[in-house]
Amino acid sequence: RGKEQARGHAVIFTLNEDRQMRDSLLLERELREADLDAELHLLFQPQMNVMDGRVRSFEALARWQSPLLGGVAPDRFIRAAERAGLIQSVTRILFRKGLDALESWPRDVDVSFNLSAQDIADRAFIFSLVAQVLRRGIDPARIEFEITETAVMKDIGVSRLLLEDLSALGFRIALDDFGSGYSSFEYIDELPLDKIKIDKGFVRKVATSAASREIVAAVITLCRNLDLECVLEGVETEAEMAILAPLSPRIIQGYLYGRPMPSDAVVALLAGQSGSPEAARV
Ligand code: C2E
Ligand code: MG
Ligand code: MG
Ligand code: MG
Repeated sequence: RGKEQARGHAVIFTLNEDRQMRDSLLLERELREADLDAELHLLFQPQMNVMDGRVRSFEALARWQSPLLGGVAPDRFIRAAERAGLIQSVTRILFRKGLDALESWPRDVDVSFNLSAQDIADRAFIFSLVAQVLRRGIDPARIEFEITETAVMKDIGVSRLLLEDLSALGFRIALDDFGSGYSSFEYIDELPLDKIKIDKGFVRKVATSAASREIVAAVITLCRNLDLECVLEGVETEAEMAILAPLSPRIIQGYLYGRPMPSDAVVALLAGQSGSPEAARV
């Protein structure tokens, strides 16, 4: 009976794998046939400074509205785009749309873009993004690139050189999803970082795990001592915030303070930040 059951599991497992495979092939095919320029867009999620309750930065998050598949989340289509060899086209289109949005915002507000491993592996591609910024006369200090440990891990030496060049040009670098993967303090030491984003998986666990709480507290302290900005990602509830508040986090990004929103809503939110001279100027 045990054997039978095991076989049953194996069959289910295979079916699921098969479905996943067909899913991802379908995604890849649809991406290849998509009018990416028309179907891809960005939403922007606020990063709130706890000290004064103000938002000075938004993370650009990709959305794909496919005529056939409907709205597809980036966790699904970014990987498909990588496999299909389309990720640089996707990144380029989103980057341009993000800069378009940024140009309609007050000048003291910044945007951050997620880069995939294949983006940062190609120096010429990254510099084509840099060129877009310079050509438009946008201050590089308003642009932040989010990279993950997994992305830099492929070749830490090459990644470090690229990030140092971006940093020297004035762009900002954030280490995303810290604590979710092969977190190594080596990256914090080796890379020219401006910001660390603590993965939402950790924030999710602080309510139930004393160890998670201590780790989050330690990373916040580490960032403060190294003069790095620190973002807590994925704060959803007042209850979570109540537990996190004593750890003195500086920046919060989560549903509690704002969902990803279209650029129009960003402009409205900033106009509503009372007494902001920059907001008043727009
Ligand atoms: P990420 O860079 O870590 O982005 C944060 C994700 O957490 C976003 O999911 C955001 O909507 C979600 N989030 C924010 N606050 C909360 C919260 O309070 N609760 C919960 N449950 N989730 C929250 P999203 O937009 O689905 O993006 C998922 C991932 O896809 C991103 O994770 C990023 O790795 C990737 N991604 C998104 N846009 C792009 C892009 O333009 N390029 C690349 N290469 N990757 C992207
Ligand atoms: Mg990110
Ligand atoms: Mg993240
Ligand atoms: Mg991520």
